[in-house]
Amino acid sequence: MINDAHCHFFTEGFFAALAWQRGKAESIEDITHELGWETPDGAEQLADRWVRELDAKGVSRAALIASVSRDEDAIGAAVARHPSRLVGFFMIDPSAGDANERARRGFEEFGLRAACLFPAMHHVALDDVRTDRVLDIAAAHAGAVFVHCGVLSMGVRKKLRLPSAFDVRLGNPLELQPLATAYPQVPFIVPHFGAGMFREALMLADMCPNVHLDTSSSNNWVRYIPGLTLEAAFRAAISVVGPSRLLFGTDSSFFPRGWQQGIYEEQKRIVEGLQMSADDQALIFGGNFDRLFARRGDD
Ligand SMILES: [Zn+2]
Repeated sequence: MINDAHCHFFTEGFFAALAWQRGKAESIEDITHELGWETPDGAEQLADRWVRELDAKGVSRAALIASVSRDEDAIGAAVARHPSRLVGFFMIDPSAGDANERARRGFEEFGLRAACLFPAMHHVALDDVRTDRVLDIAAAHAGAVFVHCGVLSMGVRKKLRLPSAFDVRLGNPLELQPLATAYPQVPFIVPHFGAGMFREALMLADMCPNVHLDTSSSNNWVRYIPGLTLEAAFRAAISVVGPSRLLFGTDSSFFPRGWQQGIYEEQKRIVEGLQMSADDQALIFGGNFDRLFARRGDD
């Protein structure tokens, strides 16, 4: 069984935000045409597109991240349509005036399961009181919190030549330690093994039993650590964090590329080479995800 803990739901709202940021009279179609990507035609159609893709690739369930602020209703419509296949995550900018209300609605009205914080993008530190408020709301709704740490580069912004005013100093995994300790009942997910801050991510997860690491993306960050291979990273993560807090993910996002089978095959080959039990392998590729995000409803 395969569950993917990290995919992106690129809606019309996502592309509209990019079009607006270009500062020209551009349409959503101008943006998707330039990228060579499919133009979404409503959240429900995009949800169906995802489920067809998951079916074709043999993937049981996937977390889809609403990848622009204020897109909770679209991802909410997607998970309402396919509750047994899709799990909704949503980006929240704690600096927005309505962040608390949006977080509450995301969990409560739209049935979303994780709020996604991007401290480097939103310029809100993890020890900022505005971050605490989002955590309070996640905790009150038994939600998880995804925190992007380390290097943040958005391929789509590079392709469109959009500037990215990120402050990656705010995404040090160690900054998350007081928060993870203060909210022990909240599961935290740090994607891409900490995206370059691997040692800090391992330290964090070693100290905080509620911190999980996702394995998603091509993990090109390994080149920041001389001699490190993705296989060695998996081996170290399993020895420090254990198999029950690693979540397989691909970072799949746009169509027609769809679900990134190649990333799965590479990680599967690595994990199979680590002499782990079949049960432990199954935790990484699906069991941990099902434990954190128990199924609601049926399709
Ligand atoms: Zn991602």
